[in-house]
Order: sequence, then C-alpha cells, then structure tokens
Amino acid sequence: MKVPIADLRSEIGAVKTVQSQVLLADLAAELCESAPEGVLHVKVTVTNTGAGFVVNGHIQGAVQMVCARCLEHFLCPVETDFQVLYRRQPVTDPERWAKGHEETNEQEDDVYFQGDVLDVAPAIWEHLLLALPMKPLCREDCLGLCPVCGQRCEDGDCGCDVENVDPRLAVLKDIME
Ligand SMILES: [Zn+2]
Ligand SMILES: [Zn+2]
Repeated sequence: MKVPIADLRSEIGAVKTVQSQVLLADLAAELCESAPEGVLHVKVTVTNTGAGFVVNGHIQGAVQMVCARCLEHFLCPVETDFQVLYRRQPVTDPERWAKGHEETNEQEDDVYFQGDVLDVAPAIWEHLLLALPMKPLCREDCLGLCPVCGQRCEDGDCGCDVENVDPRLAVLKDIME
C-alpha cells in the first residue's frame, strides 16, 4: 500500500486520510514467501510534522489461521493500531548522513524514505503479525480433538472412552497403530 505525499509536502500540519482494502496476499507479496489468506481494511492518516510524516494506521480484518486445538482453518478477526514516523532520507552525502544518523537518538521505529510516496506495506505487515494470536483458537472454548481417535469434538460424540485414557497412553496407542 503506497501513499503519495507530494500534496502534503509544502505545509507543516497538512493532513490526509487514505482508506484501502488490502488482500493479505498482495500485501505480503514483496515481504515474505507466502502469506495466509485474508482481507484487511486499512485506514491511514498522514500528517506532515515538519520532522517527517507521521502515519497513524488502523487495521481491521480477518486472517485465515489454524486452530491450535482442533487444527481446523478458521478466519481469525484482527484489529490493531500503529504509528510510524517516516523521515526523509537526504540524498546528498549519504555516508555523512548515515554517520550522523547513528549518533542521534531517533526512534527505532522510524522509517526512512525518498521521493514522494510512503510505502506503508511493511508497517502494516509488521503490526498485523504482532496483533495475531500466538495460540489461535477457532473459538475461545474450542473442545479440540478427541485424545483417543483424533476426531474433532465439535463434530459430535465419537463414543471413545476419554475418561479412562491416560494421554501418554493415547500417544503410545497412536504410534502402535
Ligand atoms: Zn478449534
Ligand atoms: Zn474419539
């Protein structure tokens, strides 16, 4: 997702808002090998602060994930906000600039750009990954899989005698089979 900022350049305090529907596959195309399916609604507000362009973003959407308990694919809702400062990278004397840049205490999150377009895709991707659950569950109370036969408990009673099975034995039984 790219945001042109030529129209904000001349006036400090100038603001604009851009909204876009982003397919995860398109977003991730340049950033990683493969991406899960999903659609995001992204709204970014760009402000010329003089020091750079502050992007305040809001991400809302759904990403296909695998439930950690029952291993089913499901659409995981996601919603998060982010803020990134884009600083213009001086084109003259980049070596000297790089040196000076190391010595200043700028924020780690700051991004450097050239030209008149901000590429906000990496920021969206990064903050999306942070917002996704480490242990995704299709439902908070997902019953998972039967420890005996491996059937999804959501699919009904498989008739297994779950009460009397030591989970360690169940694993052994799987191996034997
Ligand atoms: Zn589940
Ligand atoms: Zn079972």
